[in-house]
Amino acid sequence: MSGQGCFINGKWVAAESGTLEALDPATGAVITEIARGGPKEVEAAVSAAREAMSGDWAQWPAVERGRVLSRLGALIADQHEAIAKIECRDTGKPLSQARNDITATARYFEYYGGAADKLHGEVIPYQDGTTVMVQREPYGVCGVITPWNYPAQVFGRTVGGALSAGNSVVLKPAEEACLSVLTLAELAADAGLPAGALNVVPGLGVEAGAALASHPGIDHLSFTGSPATGTAVARSASERHVPLTMELGGKSAQIVFADADLDRAAETAVRAIVQNAGQTCSAGSRLLVERAASDAMVSRLAERFSALICGPGLEDLDCGPLINGAQKARLESMLERGRAAGMQILAVGRVAEDAPAAGHFVPPMLISGIPADHEVAQEELFGPVLTVFEFDDADEAVALANGTEFGLVTGLWTRDASRALALPRRLQSGQVFVNNYGAGGGVELPFGGVKRSGYGREKGFEGMKSFTTMKTVVLRH
Ligand code: ADP
Repeated sequence: MSGQGCFINGKWVAAESGTLEALDPATGAVITEIARGGPKEVEAAVSAAREAMSGDWAQWPAVERGRVLSRLGALIADQHEAIAKIECRDTGKPLSQARNDITATARYFEYYGGAADKLHGEVIPYQDGTTVMVQREPYGVCGVITPWNYPAQVFGRTVGGALSAGNSVVLKPAEEACLSVLTLAELAADAGLPAGALNVVPGLGVEAGAALASHPGIDHLSFTGSPATGTAVARSASERHVPLTMELGGKSAQIVFADADLDRAAETAVRAIVQNAGQTCSAGSRLLVERAASDAMVSRLAERFSALICGPGLEDLDCGPLINGAQKARLESMLERGRAAGMQILAVGRVAEDAPAAGHFVPPMLISGIPADHEVAQEELFGPVLTVFEFDDADEAVALANGTEFGLVTGLWTRDASRALALPRRLQSGQVFVNNYGAGGGVELPFGGVKRSGYGREKGFEGMKSFTTMKTVVLRH
């Protein structure tokens, strides 16, 4: 049953609506079936999570919560290769990238295990004759809706943060890829997490996801996914004024000044867009280069792009397939409209000759000639396509970098120390990396966006605080 059920109150439960097929994006073959959870299973999961909040789990001392999470981290590390292979096959990403993801997932539980007993409140000097304490408390039941691009990592940052702060969780993973999440849910029970503290209901977004977002028993919602779905989830949560964390993607720029170490910048820029075939919220999808260094940078990038090969994740090449045919068709039609607007292809990689014909492969591509207001320059492509733009000075670079509705991550490449310090202040971005770039990385680093990229922060200690509310207690002596 395990893979085909919903994980509710510590047990695998079949969904009333049956199952869905889990497809291998490299071959189109059915890997297995997953539960098609819906309102009934969400109801049971929320009720188990509510019970956990009125039972033992809510009474556990923080240090015990931490120990269980640390144990889970250790179990993930023990089964690292097996979980990495599941993640690789289910998402299509190259095996070494899946391995990095599972290393990060184990690290989230190590981090949040250690953090559980470090969260404390404040005492505020107030009127004479009073003592004021601000206490941090869990929200209660956290609803978590996660995407298919980093199933295990997003599980780590959300479930780790929420449980360490003392909440219980009902998680709806993405129907396109959730096999690692099902394995992790069972491992959490093996680590000693009590029944009901973590419940997982796989299923379709419009069924299980919508039921979770609108459930009156949810006290906080964390959503990671597309802006359009985020709007639907936020609208539904707003009916009951449920607090939200929203991570909705980006159109992240790498700004490369002529004085930068161009070799390092080029190497990192390629990795930041090819990682997970560009299906990363924080993918560095725009390369803004100072005109004086444009030829030198483009030739470095073109050389690297031409050498990139994509194929099945298990073959561990540079790039895997896109998650499904719909994403591939969406990308190809956007590029088609780009071509009509003057797009030039500067370099293109290739699909391995023996890659299965039914796989959703798209060769990595370096392009230019896109008008700054075109959809290819403005919207997430979610594919291995890097678009080059030129600028003449810092003002123009900042205007271009800030010139989309997103604001998740920005890369800045320069050897000028004052520019490295001054420019991050002007960038509308949740994270700025100077002379490095961490698409998707950084367990310890608060992560989240501004503008249409969303609000709230996950990862790091701030991420744990996002899963808490505050109570101000005023005592008159
Ligand atoms: P993408 O566009 O990247 O495929 P989505 O933003 O639609 O992704 O999906 C992210 C998560 O939101 C997935 O778990 C998906 O099942 C879920 N989801 C999709 N539609 C809804 C909805 N209407 N309500 C709640 N969750 C949804």
